[in-house]
Amino acid sequence: MRPHILNPLFRPVTTLPGIGPRIARLVERLAGAKVVDLLWHLPSGLIDRRFSPTIKDAPAGAVATIAVHVDKHVKPPARRAPYRVKVSDGTGRMDLVFFNAHDDWLAKALPVGEDRVVSGRVELFRGVLQMTHPDHIATPAERDKLAAIEPVWPLTQGLSPKTLARAIAASVADAPNLPEWLDPQLVRREGWPPWRTAVAKAQAPAATADLLPESVARTRLAYDELLASQLAMALVRAHMRRQGGRTTRGDGRLRARALGALPFELTTSQREAGAEIIGDMESPMRMLRLLQGDVGSGKTVVAALAVLAAAEAGRQSALMAPTEILARQHFATLAPLFEAADLRLALLTGRDKGAPRRATLEALARGDIAAVVGTHAIIQDDVGFHDLALAVVDEQHRFGVAQRLALAAKGTAVDILVMTATPIPRTLTLMAYGDLDVSRLMEKPAGRKPVDTRAVPLSRLGDVIAAVGRAIGRQGAAGQRRAAASPSDSDGRVFWVCPLVAESEALDVAAAEERFHALDRLFPGCVGLVHGRMRAADKDAAVAAFADGRTRILVATTVIEVGIDVPAASIMVVEHAERFGLAQLHQLRGRIGRGDRPATCLLLYAESLTQTARARLRILRQTDDGFRIAEEDLRLRGAGEILGTRQSGLPDFRLVDLEAHGALMQMARDDAALILDRDPGLASERGAALRMLLYLFERDAAVAYARSG
Ligand code: ADP
Ligand code: MG
Repeated sequence: MRPHILNPLFRPVTTLPGIGPRIARLVERLAGAKVVDLLWHLPSGLIDRRFSPTIKDAPAGAVATIAVHVDKHVKPPARRAPYRVKVSDGTGRMDLVFFNAHDDWLAKALPVGEDRVVSGRVELFRGVLQMTHPDHIATPAERDKLAAIEPVWPLTQGLSPKTLARAIAASVADAPNLPEWLDPQLVRREGWPPWRTAVAKAQAPAATADLLPESVARTRLAYDELLASQLAMALVRAHMRRQGGRTTRGDGRLRARALGALPFELTTSQREAGAEIIGDMESPMRMLRLLQGDVGSGKTVVAALAVLAAAEAGRQSALMAPTEILARQHFATLAPLFEAADLRLALLTGRDKGAPRRATLEALARGDIAAVVGTHAIIQDDVGFHDLALAVVDEQHRFGVAQRLALAAKGTAVDILVMTATPIPRTLTLMAYGDLDVSRLMEKPAGRKPVDTRAVPLSRLGDVIAAVGRAIGRQGAAGQRRAAASPSDSDGRVFWVCPLVAESEALDVAAAEERFHALDRLFPGCVGLVHGRMRAADKDAAVAAFADGRTRILVATTVIEVGIDVPAASIMVVEHAERFGLAQLHQLRGRIGRGDRPATCLLLYAESLTQTARARLRILRQTDDGFRIAEEDLRLRGAGEILGTRQSGLPDFRLVDLEAHGALMQMARDDAALILDRDPGLASERGAALRMLLYLFERDAAVAYARSG
């Protein structure tokens, strides 16, 4: 249970002054739904109001605080014209300009004949100095209440800076004094303020230097966040390790048969990764291993070897994939290997219902089924195993820790293998995975040719469509008809990826449907469509038709990004490539160039590219090394943005800036290890404070793994 002292921070933002349900929705989008989310929403700039020139000396463009005398109100002469208040100070004259303002409010705020202090940006308009909508209007007596330095927070449309400032001030005021969870020596050495002071300072910067991630206040907060994250991971890992492991040793007979049946040789890194995994399974320790390999590097085969090793030992495996399509694909890969070995392999997804599902569950529980492949349907409560020894989680970032643990809990001392294609830069692996053991597939299977990647302006869409038509052996219904080419030399297969149009999936789908219809008119019967809103069975059917060659063009939204394997596809068209992230384009492109024919990727871009978008497309043309691309992505976007994206697989940090705080990570990791070494149950006084830290950063689940007593 979260300690009561933290409760004020976990109330909804609607408990803050000035935030009703409508504003709350904006705040939620911007920062989050809880008070603590506003604490983490730090200023991005400053307004210095100390500059207070006379009107004559006020430079256009500057923010100034000016003492003035109100001379006259001039109501708008026409409906759209602004309301003007004429003011002066003995050195010159100035207009205060208001659009859509209420007359009575203005009469009260700026009474004719009185003195006021106004603060805002001054500008020159048709030779007259003016200030449009001053940020502040105060009486001379109130002048001292005008903050000399005012923080500026990132905003969202519809949310006024004043409302946000007030709510943030209230959230800071609500923040309790918390016991120190950091090592006192560390705090002294770094000169870090206590947590509450750090929050208050970070939210009330006094100078530009205070906005930098390297400022003491922000550094301390970032360290807190890193420590919470590392400690949570260490707790989960310690929990898994404590449960101990067991030896799963096969005799190699099924693996040998499977390797003999493969149409290719394993790469060196596949062999090495396989040996590491088998070594873990054979050891009495529990396996907690990450298999990291760029898209197309051949992770599935490596996982299959582990599954077969468990089967040789008479034990069961489960392979969990994030999507139905992917689960079916893995099933299709493994099925022949299992058939040859006379072992039963089952598929279990959300689509299985009723009697067939019951039959599968019974066979699993009896141990008649050697391995099950599925979606998260396999972690449902009623799914039980006879003797689960190995859990493989594919594209693990699509699952939460809780789901991984739920799968592992279906057996005793289950060995865990998680697989990811996210080519996370080395510097970030620690942060994402804590201290899992890592196997990497560094090389691509032999014979892969780099994909010929070209950036093409959207204005040449017509040419691209014509080229696609040639590639699939069709001229297009609108063009000249050609004698039907023989299927063998026109076996081209094309992925056509439609962009994310907006935050709305419905709009993305509409765009994909429109492209589908347009292409289908040109190449009737050759085009398929797959997107996230289709029924699962229809998705499978569309992918299957494309894989078999019944359709030649598959129009898709980014649902194909993860895992789809159609080696015959050799061309990819990405519409509005500039709207995709670098890592995402790399994942997409990884769908082609898997077969033996040369592959081409056409990145269609809208003119007027930003510099970053241009750089992204250039990098993609230059390299297909996922690690290099990830490093470049990091450089171009900044770590913050990578960390913010779902698909990165990294935790969503609020206060950590990887470039600035990278060095803190190793410290936090060592710190977490030391803490758990001395006090695995977090039972000491400092341990109690560390529990507080975990709750503060919403690592509630991890607290449960602190050994009690
Ligand atoms: P990923 O690592 O992206 O999950 P897959 O496991 O889907 O990659 O493998 C991609 C493709 O490469 C598959 O068609 C697979 O059969 C093939 N493949 C895997 N290993 C090799 C190899 N050593 N040589 C040739 N092809 C391979
Ligand atoms: Mg895969």
